[in-house]
Amino acid sequence: TLEYARRMTFVEGDPGAILLVEFQGDSKKRLMDSLNKLINFLKKHKLGTAHVAVIKPHEQENVWFIRKAGLGLMMGTKEARKPIGFVEDTAVPAEKLAEYIREFDAVIREHGTEACYYAHASVGCLHVRPLLNLKSKDDLARMQSLADHVSDLVLKYGGAFSGEHGDGLARSCFNEKMFGPKLYQAFKEIKRAFDPKNILNPGKIVDAQSLTENLRVIPQGKSRSLPTFLDFSKEGGFDAAIEICNGNGVCRKKDSGTMCPSYMVTSEEEHSTRGRANALRAVISGKLDKKEFTSKALYDVLDLCIACKGCKGECPTNVDMAKIKYEFLYHYHKENGLPLRDRLFGNIESLNRLGCALAPVSNWLVSALPVRWLLDIFFGISNHRQLPHFAHQTFTDWFRQHKRSSSKRENKVVLFNDCFMTYNTPEVGIATTKLLEAAGYEVILPEKRCCGRPFLSKGMLDEAKTRAEFNVEKLFPLVEQGYKIVGVEPSCILTFRDEYPDMINDARVQTVAANTLLVDEFLLSENEQNNLNLNLKSAKSRFLLHGHCHMKALVGMNPTLSLLKMIPNAEIEVVDSGCCGMAGSFGFEKEHYEISMAMGRRKLFRAVESRNDDWQIVAPGVSCRQQIEHGTARKAKHPVEVLAEHLE
Ligand code: SF4
Ligand code: SF4
Repeated sequence: TLEYARRMTFVEGDPGAILLVEFQGDSKKRLMDSLNKLINFLKKHKLGTAHVAVIKPHEQENVWFIRKAGLGLMMGTKEARKPIGFVEDTAVPAEKLAEYIREFDAVIREHGTEACYYAHASVGCLHVRPLLNLKSKDDLARMQSLADHVSDLVLKYGGAFSGEHGDGLARSCFNEKMFGPKLYQAFKEIKRAFDPKNILNPGKIVDAQSLTENLRVIPQGKSRSLPTFLDFSKEGGFDAAIEICNGNGVCRKKDSGTMCPSYMVTSEEEHSTRGRANALRAVISGKLDKKEFTSKALYDVLDLCIACKGCKGECPTNVDMAKIKYEFLYHYHKENGLPLRDRLFGNIESLNRLGCALAPVSNWLVSALPVRWLLDIFFGISNHRQLPHFAHQTFTDWFRQHKRSSSKRENKVVLFNDCFMTYNTPEVGIATTKLLEAAGYEVILPEKRCCGRPFLSKGMLDEAKTRAEFNVEKLFPLVEQGYKIVGVEPSCILTFRDEYPDMINDARVQTVAANTLLVDEFLLSENEQNNLNLNLKSAKSRFLLHGHCHMKALVGMNPTLSLLKMIPNAEIEVVDSGCCGMAGSFGFEKEHYEISMAMGRRKLFRAVESRNDDWQIVAPGVSCRQQIEHGTARKAKHPVEVLAEHLE
């Protein structure tokens, strides 16, 4: 995934394996001496293809970040054969490890497969995971045979079958072989003495099932196939999209990143990505009745998923719960009806258009306390929230009237004027236009409709598809003429790339998607090709940057960061704030208000509040800016606004 790819800074070339050696000591000189001694030794004996000294703390952090995620990353392979753990924990005396592993490897190859190797070489415990497809009968037989051979090998080398992880369900069936009948009998007696009714972990250590019984994987042809609206073919089907979750639980991390905001604030398994995947797995495996797929119970499990795509970016196997949730909601609403509030939020474009036409009366109306109470009671829109402001002059009206500043070149670029820019925050559209014109582009506003994101997030997939088809129809000819489509609202513009291909089976979609960019990406790539000549004045304040979740998952923060760095003397800090908690309409919904605020309070609000007015808060997402203002009373700006303010 993007996040892991970015952190592979310590890998040179394309090595078959990496050996990490860590030195500890109390003086830098001693550490450097030891390190250099090792590097010289390896070079002298021509060992290894590259010798990388990782000295800076943030680089060391990258090493351990990748190491920790290594297993999940390997499990993330899209191949049917995955690295399976069943002989992964053998340990032999360290001095015999090389010889043992050579034989182990030969056994694996004799079985017609290969393996991944990782972990603790220094203590003779290399985790070896053969690649097998547990849905295939042949590979199940291979699994049993491999385990038999490897257990022989472990005995031959005087090792242990479970070096670190314990026996569990996978290895208990080998305990009699490993320990001998006498000891095994003693184990049984101890178990009986302390647990006569066999209620504590039955089937572990003694009286175990065979290796291939009770596997988590749903056997081939046994998963329930559900017709889907979205195209899940690249995941291998809807069931495969759910089964990608291998249960390793990285989504239960709480210290960094975005995944998974609902778990971070509730600490409840059911509100983690894994919890959701497991609930869905119970339906597709047939453990639960098919009608449970559209049940309130499953709705509740998915309810706090804010479709942030944190899992798509950070889960080592790229579980895309947002996409799964869109599909689920589509079926759920078909079965149970679409709530009025969802209909309203989905149709935000029409509501905004109406609000602007009636401004300023509409603004007065939605901020009047009695109206807010009525919205709360009858529509479930939290009265704690102020609905977004409707612009007196929409961005499109401004654009029609504005005089183009003279430009140096006549390149054209298409600006996708999303609904929020058009109706709620025209200042962002104005700043974007000024910036692009200052950079020498003529800005074209296309004929377009809402990107479809508000419909998608409510599972209104028919409506989202209609919008997507309209936009592709109108944008494709412009792309054909060689123009790029740029946008400023990450969740809108990235819909073209991430969701349109899943909704429309038309080659033109891929072309449009490939030519649609965040304005940050566009300007950065122009700069890299020496096409950008922005004249910017020195920074007056420092910048605290909060990233948008979809952007972090699909693009990363580098384009925005690089763009802001073009401002002379800019001092920028990116806050590891995770999700702001607003997530489109989620934070407006009465029953979600407290959770939404808890997500914001977790890190973001504190980061903002701890910076004085010398700091400008910068956030590309409109929802994030709303949440920051609501939670901290500080006004955040879009990065393009900041850049436009620094134009000479
Ligand atoms: S969803 Fe969570 S448990 Fe499942 S694979 Fe991803 S990080 Fe692991
Ligand atoms: S999309 Fe976000 S909220 Fe939903 S499961 Fe993934 S990380 Fe959690």
